[in-house]
Amino acid sequence: MLVDSHCHLDRLKLDKFDGDLDEVLALARSRGVGKFLCVGISLENVDDVVKIANRYEDVVCSVGVHPLDVDSGLADVEKLKALAAQPKVVALGETGLDYYYSTETKEVQQQSFIAHLQAAGEVGLPVIVHTRDAREDTIELIRTHGSREHAGVLHCFTESWDMAKAALDLNYYISLSGIVTFKNAEELREVAKRVPLDRLLVETDSPYLAPVPYRGKPNIPAYVREVAEFIADQRGISYEALAEATTENFHRLFPRAA
Ligand SMILES: [Zn+2]
Ligand SMILES: [Zn+2]
Repeated sequence: MLVDSHCHLDRLKLDKFDGDLDEVLALARSRGVGKFLCVGISLENVDDVVKIANRYEDVVCSVGVHPLDVDSGLADVEKLKALAAQPKVVALGETGLDYYYSTETKEVQQQSFIAHLQAAGEVGLPVIVHTRDAREDTIELIRTHGSREHAGVLHCFTESWDMAKAALDLNYYISLSGIVTFKNAEELREVAKRVPLDRLLVETDSPYLAPVPYRGKPNIPAYVREVAEFIADQRGISYEALAEATTENFHRLFPRAA
């Protein structure tokens, strides 16, 4: 069994599936995907992701405010704790820092990230962290405000091995998406080989970032299979071994999803 540890099921392009999410999930299941983590990005889509998770037995969800969505409304620690109390919520996020697309909101992003880290520590849930061009600040905030015990994951990881190492030292997991299959992702492929097998997750981040050979097309959870097969090949292990390890890791990191 394989897990798509990060997908946005409320945002998938469903035209090819008659607008039917059932079909997209059925296709993924037919390719061995047995669990899906539908990730929240704002206070506006919280209800949607919770509703989807409630509808399917093999879908769980997270709630949080994406660093690029801080303009649409912030959640403080109390609000996040209340949202986290809903059934099927297994993590807080995605939260984090994205200085690649926005430096104007830097301070607000940091404030929001800290609130997520604090709330997660208080309710005993892991954090799903989005990080881009903000290496030092991301590690620093996790180190200062994060929980070592419940930790979290750096999702759709695209940074250096040094950053991966720093996160691993803070008990974090590293999740890789289809980007690892892209032609110019040499450095990331090195990371994919070096992350300890017991700290690795795979994801689609669908509908974005479809892996080769679907690059440029709308991404769907079924393609997490391509991501996993590619990484297994890079590491010189079988697909089955990688699927088993990443599934086990997923349940260790997100115990509520087990
Ligand atoms: Zn993200
Ligand atoms: Zn995402």
